Amino acid sequence: HNLKKYFAVDTDFWGRPTAWLKAVDDISFGIRKGETLGLVGESGCGKSTTGRTIIHLYKPTAGKILFNGKIIDSKDPGKQLRREMQMIFQDPYASLNPRMTVGDILGEPLDIHGLAAGAERTERIVELLRLVGLNPGYISRFPHEFSGGQRQRIGIARALAVDPSFIICDEPISALDVSIQAQVVNLLEHLQEAMQLTYLFIAHDLAMVKHISNRVAVMYLGKIVEIAASHELYRRPQHPYTQALLSAIAIPDPLVEAKRERILLTGDVPNPITPPSGCRFRTRCRYAVKTCSEQEPTLVDLGSGHLTACHVVHR
Ligand code: SF4
Ligand code: MG
Repeated sequence: HNLKKYFAVDTDFWGRPTAWLKAVDDISFGIRKGETLGLVGESGCGKSTTGRTIIHLYKPTAGKILFNGKIIDSKDPGKQLRREMQMIFQDPYASLNPRMTVGDILGEPLDIHGLAAGAERTERIVELLRLVGLNPGYISRFPHEFSGGQRQRIGIARALAVDPSFIICDEPISALDVSIQAQVVNLLEHLQEAMQLTYLFIAHDLAMVKHISNRVAVMYLGKIVEIAASHELYRRPQHPYTQALLSAIAIPDPLVEAKRERILLTGDVPNPITPPSGCRFRTRCRYAVKTCSEQEPTLVDLGSGHLTACHVVHR
């Protein structure tokens, strides 16, 4: 609810902030139990910061985060909550300690939360390796002995070790070969069903979240500009930014491809320290009118849970 995460980027002589990077600037959305909510947008739009703030790796600047209907105390989220919410990172190699064996990597969360010891601990690690499709015989190998896809499986197993119910997947397939991406997505889908998991799935393009998401939220410069059921968003995108993102996806059918209009986004993403007044997309929007620089559009429901923030769409 009204979540904000600002980072101080400049301070005066006394260390007081004089400029803020408004990475996440007043966003509200919900994720339903058992669903996958895709979160997309160009790099730097605040997707990862949103994920990290929800999971309390960052302390929110303002706003509330509720989990199972209860407000999380941002000063002390509590150990149970840390168990319930886990994260899978973009670069599996950077997130795995190179000096630890796979057994140690998977055993660490079990130790921290006091979940298993001795033979039971080993059993659980073997079970986790099987769960993500890795040979349990690899238990004493080191991260560098695995391929990128296998390393991401280790990252997934580590997140699952504490039996969470909600997982933030922060671009879990972006760093992988295209041939491996589908395997990892399939694994995540299988695990979701088997363990009744809820996902926030962060990606920078709409093609990646299409299959896995029930609903998709689109972010631009720290704001959510559109949210809709996945099939609805791909068929009837309403926000000019979503339309531009979608038009960049390659369509396999050459006949459709030939007739299709490509919307090229011109100009760079504006500086998030000094975002444009009114609608933040107006400097790149081909539909911009006078109101767009004067008033900030808010998310409005167009019906059946399709929300978008645009003055022109709502006229
Ligand atoms: Fe474009 Fe205006 Fe809509 Fe923003 S509010 S997306 S500038 S038309
Ligand atoms: Mg990111």
